[in-house]
Amino acid sequence: MTDSESPPPISLTTFACFFDVDGTLAGIEEKPEWVSIPDEIKQALCDGFTATNGALALVSGRSLAELDRLSAPFHGPAAGVHGAERRDGQGQIHRTELSPALAAKLQRELTQAIAHLPGCHVEAKGMAFALHYREAQHYQKNILTVAESFVTRYPELALQPGKCVVELKPQGVSKGEAIKVFMDEAPFAGRTPLFIGDDLTDEAGFIQVNALQGISIKVGPGNTAAHYHLKDVAAVHHWILSLVKQQENYSIKTKVSSGEDL
Ligand SMILES: [Mg+2]
Repeated sequence: MTDSESPPPISLTTFACFFDVDGTLAGIEEKPEWVSIPDEIKQALCDGFTATNGALALVSGRSLAELDRLSAPFHGPAAGVHGAERRDGQGQIHRTELSPALAAKLQRELTQAIAHLPGCHVEAKGMAFALHYREAQHYQKNILTVAESFVTRYPELALQPGKCVVELKPQGVSKGEAIKVFMDEAPFAGRTPLFIGDDLTDEAGFIQVNALQGISIKVGPGNTAAHYHLKDVAAVHHWILSLVKQQENYSIKTKVSSGEDL
């Protein structure tokens, strides 16, 4: 990837769109609960959903409930917790669960393991755990060591580092796997995938989309498997809005040339 490679124009009539949320559709904030998606982008998600015939999904480390809260009134397909929970194109929910006893044990042990690191905290997501250190970035190594020790002791878990967070998620779950499963199902199947993301967790998604001859777009700096680049969240917003607008112009032209009443 080079910095000059902006994504090419695409047609929403033939593409399936996958969007990460934090750092992609929404700016990163000091606290995850302060994050929001601008209204015009939420509207663009709704318009994009219609233009792609429903082949538009959010793919995030957040829970489905959180994604729905952040993106309302959009309520389309989504993969939460890196794909451990997924609402498919028919509205059906699929979950990769840990047993409740194991989840409770892990939460207890993780809370205890980082109790001596002030400013760090455990976020329990049911089947996954996020160890946050945004407010204590000098503890990055300590957090990683704790997470690695848990992955060694619990083979059902896998490590997922991100921006100021290290996550423990069920083995086999990734954004790439989530995109692959979506692409095997209606209304995604047969379309060309596009995925935009900003973080290490998105790399599996880029690799999957590249394998399907799709368009992978990395937001911000850093090594990546993505083929294209957008500078920051503002550039993502600009690109998505122009994409939806272009689509509207195209639809109007098509209706005019077919003699349809507008
Ligand atoms: Mg992100």
